Amino acid sequence: MALSQTITLPNGIKYEQPLGLFINNEFVKGVEGKTFETINPHDEKPIVAVHEATEKDVDIAVKAARAALEGEYKNVAPSVRGRYLTKLADLLEENIETLSGIESLDNGKSLFWSKVDITNAAGCIRYYGGWADKITGQTIDTDAKNFTYTRHEPVGVCGQIIPWNFPMLMWAWKIGPALATGNTIVLKSAEQTPLSALFAASLVKKAGFPPGVVNIISGFGKTAGAAISSHMDIDKVAFTGSTLVGRQILQAAAKSNLKKVTLELGGKSPNIVFPDADIENAISWVNFGIYYNHGQCCCAGSRVLVHEDIYDKFIEAFKKRAESNKVGDPFDKETFQGPQISQLQFDRIMGYIDEGKKAGAKVVTGGERHGSQGYYIKPTIFADVTNDMKIVQEEIFGPVCTVQKFKTEEEAIKLSNTSSYGLASAVHTTNLNTALRVSAALRAGTVWVNTYNTLHYQVPFGGYKESGIGRELGSYALENYTQIKSVRVYLGDALFG
Ligand code: NAD
Repeated sequence: MALSQTITLPNGIKYEQPLGLFINNEFVKGVEGKTFETINPHDEKPIVAVHEATEKDVDIAVKAARAALEGEYKNVAPSVRGRYLTKLADLLEENIETLSGIESLDNGKSLFWSKVDITNAAGCIRYYGGWADKITGQTIDTDAKNFTYTRHEPVGVCGQIIPWNFPMLMWAWKIGPALATGNTIVLKSAEQTPLSALFAASLVKKAGFPPGVVNIISGFGKTAGAAISSHMDIDKVAFTGSTLVGRQILQAAAKSNLKKVTLELGGKSPNIVFPDADIENAISWVNFGIYYNHGQCCCAGSRVLVHEDIYDKFIEAFKKRAESNKVGDPFDKETFQGPQISQLQFDRIMGYIDEGKKAGAKVVTGGERHGSQGYYIKPTIFADVTNDMKIVQEEIFGPVCTVQKFKTEEEAIKLSNTSSYGLASAVHTTNLNTALRVSAALRAGTVWVNTYNTLHYQVPFGGYKESGIGRELGSYALENYTQIKSVRVYLGDALFG
C-alpha cells in the first residue's frame, strides 16, 4: 500500500494525506505490512487505510527516540527547541483549513469546533515553545562548605497514548510540554482517528525537529499501545483515555521498568445549579457542558444537580435548549452536534439509554438515534433519576445527562462527591460566598463557576480520585516531563574539615 494518498475533503480542500508510520522524520510501512481502515462516522464508510504499527515498529520508534535523545539533540539549546515549537505552532495555523477538515472527516466534530481545536492546539504548542528556555533549577544554601543546586532534566524517551475525542488537541497537549523540556517521543494516536496526527507529523519535520525526536505511529491499543506501556526503554508514559485502560497501563509500567506514569482518565462531573443562578446563562452552560463534542469529553457535565425550587422550570427550559441544538453533518455550517465516533461507542451509549429507561428514569427529550445513517444520537435528558442508577454513576461518554434534585447546599456537595471520579465540576450561582464555599468543598481537579468546559492551555487540568494521576497543561505539566537532579559540591578541604 502507498505511503500517501490525495484526498479531497468535503470543504473542498485537496491535500496529500500521509499514511505511513512517522519514524525518524520519514513515513514508513510497518514491519509486518499490516494496514487498517479509518471510518467516517457521518456515513459509516471507510475513508482510507493507514499503515499499522505492531510491537516491532514500537521498538524501532523507541530506538529512534533513544538515539535522538543521546545524540546531537542533547546539545541543541533550549531556545532552539523553543523556536522549533513556535514554528510548529505557525505551521498548524497555516494549515488550519486542511487540519480542521481532516478532523471533521475522521472524528465527526463540526468544522467550526475542529477549527477551535486546531487554534487551541497551535496556542498550546506556542505556549510550551515559550517555556523551553525558562526551565530552571534552584540553588540551595545549606551551609558555607557546600554549594548545592538542582537541575531539571528531561525524563527521557516518552511514550504517549492519546484518544479519539480531541485528536489534534490531545496531540498538542502531549507533545508540547514533553518537547519544551527536551524529551523525545513515541506517540500513538487512537485507531479511530489517525489522520490529523499523521498530517501534523509532516509539519513536525518542516518545523525543524531533527530525526527521531518526534515519532508518531498509528495502531491499536492491545498491540502498539501495550507495547509502549510495557517497553523497557521508555522512561515515561502519558495516557488519556478510559479508566480501565489507565489501570492496565499502570500495571504494565509496574511489571516492566517502573516507568513514570501520568493518566488523564474518565469523569462523571457534577454541574450544580443553585436557585439564585442566572437561569438562562446556567442553561446555556449546562447545555454546552454536556453536548459539546457530542458528550465525548472526559470532563462532560453529565450529572446536572438542580435545586428543587427551580427544578420544573429548569427542566422545561433545558428541554427546549437541547432540542434546538442542530444535530447533523459536521460540514454543515449550522451543525453543533455531529455523530459519535464509532458503532461501538454508539452501541455503548444506546445501551446506557436503555438501562436508564428500564430503571424508571424519565426521558425528557431524545433517548433515540438521530436519522438513519451515521452514528448520530439525539441530545438526551433523563429526569426523575436516583443516585444509585447506572446512568448517574457511570461515564456514558455521549450526549446523555441526568438531572437530579437537591434541597440544600450540603446535599448538593454530598451528591457531587459520591462519584469515584473527580475530574471536573461546576457551580452556577450569583452568590459569591456560595460559589467559593462550594468550589472549596468539591473533590475535583477543576471547578467552573458560572461557566463550563472553558479549558485553557495555561491552566492545569487533571483529576482527583479515579480520574487520573498528574496534571496536564500550564507550568504544572512541565513537572511530568522533568526529573530533578541534586548536585552537591563540597567546598571544604578534607572529609568534614
Ligand atoms: P480507550 O481507553 O480504550 O482508548 C484510548 C487510547 O488507549 C487509544 O489510543 C487506544 O488505542 C489505547 N489503548 C487501548 N487499550 C490499550 C492498552 N491495553 N494499552 C495501551 N493503550 C491502549 O478508550 P475507548 O475504548 O476508545 O473508549 C472507551 C471509553 O473510554 C469511552 O466510552 C470513555 O468513557 C473513555 N474515554 C475517555 C477519554 C478521555 O478523554 N478521558 C477519551 C476516550 C475514551
